[in-house]
Formats: sequence, C-alpha cells, structure tokens
Amino acid sequence: MPALQELISSFSQEEREALDALFSRYHFTESQKLEIAKDESDLRQWKEPSFIPAAPYSRIDSRKDGRKGDAFMKALREHMDHLRSSETDYSTFFPEVKPREKCTSRFVDKRIVLGRCPCPVDGEKTRCCRLRTLDAIEQCAFSCSYCSVQAFYNENEIHAVSGIKEKLLACTPDPDVWHIGTGQASDSLLFGDDFGTLSALSAFAEKHPEIIIELKSKSARNVFDRKYPRNMVFTWSLNAPTIIEKEEHLTASLEGRLENAERARDNGNLVGFHIHPMVYFKGWDEEYPRLAKMIESRFRPEDVCMVGIGTLTFTKAVIRHLRERGDESRVLEMDLVPASGKFSYPLETKERMFSTVFHSFSEAFRNNVFFYLCMEDPSLWMPALGREYSSDREFEEDMKRHYREAVARL
Ligand code: SF4
Repeated sequence: MPALQELISSFSQEEREALDALFSRYHFTESQKLEIAKDESDLRQWKEPSFIPAAPYSRIDSRKDGRKGDAFMKALREHMDHLRSSETDYSTFFPEVKPREKCTSRFVDKRIVLGRCPCPVDGEKTRCCRLRTLDAIEQCAFSCSYCSVQAFYNENEIHAVSGIKEKLLACTPDPDVWHIGTGQASDSLLFGDDFGTLSALSAFAEKHPEIIIELKSKSARNVFDRKYPRNMVFTWSLNAPTIIEKEEHLTASLEGRLENAERARDNGNLVGFHIHPMVYFKGWDEEYPRLAKMIESRFRPEDVCMVGIGTLTFTKAVIRHLRERGDESRVLEMDLVPASGKFSYPLETKERMFSTVFHSFSEAFRNNVFFYLCMEDPSLWMPALGREYSSDREFEEDMKRHYREAVARL
C-alpha cells in the first residue's frame, strides 16, 4: 500500500473526513499530502490538537495568486517548527498508558559475547568511553516511551542466557577489557536474581577483580540482602519527576530509585547515576537542578563512582518504530537535528542543559566524582563540564583511573 494510504488507514473516520475535506479544498502535491498526514499523526501521538481545524483559513483564502495549498503548508510548517523547537509542555499531557501484554520469559542457549557500546563505530563523532556490553537478559518489562530496546527485540518475550555462570566463568576477556555494562539490553535489576544473572556476575567479578561490572537500573527491587564484590558498581538512571511520570512508564519513582541506591551504598558498593535522557521540557531548568541537590543530600562524593549525563537521541529506525507503535508520548515533539548518524537536540540546547545540571552540583561533588557526557559531541565537553579529551582513548584512560581509584578506596 502506498505510504499515504497506509498512514491514512490508521486514522479515525473523523480524521479521514477532515483530511479529505482539506485535500478537496486546496491543491496539494502527493508529497505535501504525505507531510500533512505525517504531521497530523505526530500531533495525535503528542496529544496536541489537530492543525486542520485551526489553520488560518481567512489568510490563506485571501491569497490572489492561487497558491493556497502552499500557503497552508507554510502555516503548518511554522506551527510544527514552533512545537518542536520550544520546551515541551507536559502540564497539558496526560497519556493513556496501554497495559503491556504479559511478558513471557525463557532461557536461550547463547554464547557470551562482549559487545561494544552503541556509539557510532568510527571516526570519534561522539566521545565514547568504549564500554563493553554484556546482554545477559534481552528485553525489559518496563515501558519507557523513548526506549530502543523495545525496537530491537520481540516485545513480549524476555530472553535470559542459560548456564550464564558457567559460561561467564569459562570466558577469558581480552586484557584491554576493564569495564563491562549489563544495562544495554534490559534493566539490570528488574529481574533480580530470577535468572541467576546477579549470582553469575558476582562470581565473575570475584574472579576478575580488575574488571568493573556496571549495572544500570530504574528499579526499586531490593537485591541487597547479600554481599557483592566491590568491583560491582550499581547505577541508576534518574530523571526529572515530570519525565518519570509522563514518559518512563512502569518504572520505579525517583524516590524508589534513590532509596535502592542507598541500599546498595549501605551494602558496601559504589553507586553511580545516569541523568539520562535529559528532556528539554517546560520546567527542566528547575527539576534537573533539584535532582542534583537530591543526590547530594543523600550521598557523599566518595559514595558515588560516576555521574553520566546525556539527552534524547534517536536512530531513524527507532523514530520509525515509535511512530508505528503510536503510543501517546511527547518525546518526539522536539527538534530532530542530525547528530552523528542519529537525531537529537541542537548543540546549543544540549550545552545549556548539561552545563546547568553539572553546575547544580557542589564544587566538592564536581571535583571528586567522575562526571562525563554519554555519547555526546566532543565539542560539548569544555563548555558544559570545563574539561575535554582529545580522543576516546584518553577519555577511557581517565575514566578507568577514576573508577579504579574509587573502588580501591572502598
Ligand atoms: S528501563 Fe531501559 S530497557 Fe527498560 S524500557 Fe526503560 S529504557 Fe528500555
């Protein structure tokens, strides 16, 4: 089916009639019709009013040159540009969250492979810490509206590597492997030790004290009724309360995540925080600084191994997936500027957000905790964090030194 017809078939009867009436009122090219349908579909997903009834018809109809279709397109583009470039307004957004179909889970007999972080592969277009990734579990039962994991794996089936302990203990990582993350294909704590993953990672960490295992979570699940080797670092993705409420569905509240981080700290491990993905919304400049203060009110710099900062960034495939899924969300109500093969906010917006959140931490925190920008343009480091690296290797070496010193101090 041609793209326009396919898109229109997903519209309600009323929406179709409004489009038909518009298409017979003015002359549009096929690509203009497709653009109108796409924009209307975006507006519906963002729960913004349709542009069709609101267009400035008297101004368009008063044109004498007969280019009324072009005048409509101009007004539509101005409207969409305005919505995309301004701070997203969540005060008017109350998404209906579709319950997720029940997830099933099963073990799969997969080889253990250490992947690489999802930065662009070559050319150092983003400053990358060269994290190695371990997909012990694939798929997640949380439902963040911006999530790329949902696009990669079967939505309702959770796969866990079978015999993971034996497989991990049998593997000999390359000598340059010092930092492995498990939070790229799922949430690291949501399933606790249901699949034996935490026990396996614990045994591996004990066998390789020089390797730091980093778990990343949005969960409040208490897994701290047992001890873990000190080279296991427990990190939480944190966000502004507005974004947690409106876009990070089914995840733990900010309070729940911070309480769980306190348990990890009290249990003898280092913790870390990913303020990621930051969203440019009305109120960001109050809520993100408050988040920084909340972290500081509960943790000392020596408790915290790292704070990573980053924004919403999408690949074309994920944007397509989110549009097809059609869930109500405002994460795509943003300027999608090309950024190293992906799409993200303009650099000036990112610089303001990163610099604001970094400078909301006290000097003691800024000087003693390892802050970094995650998968971001190298040019942002100096204006946002006041330091930069000339290569990924230099970044990785500095991160390694900080992490190892922090672990050694425990
Ligand atoms: S917690 Fe992470 S993996 Fe799970 S839905 Fe959210 S972004 Fe995706």
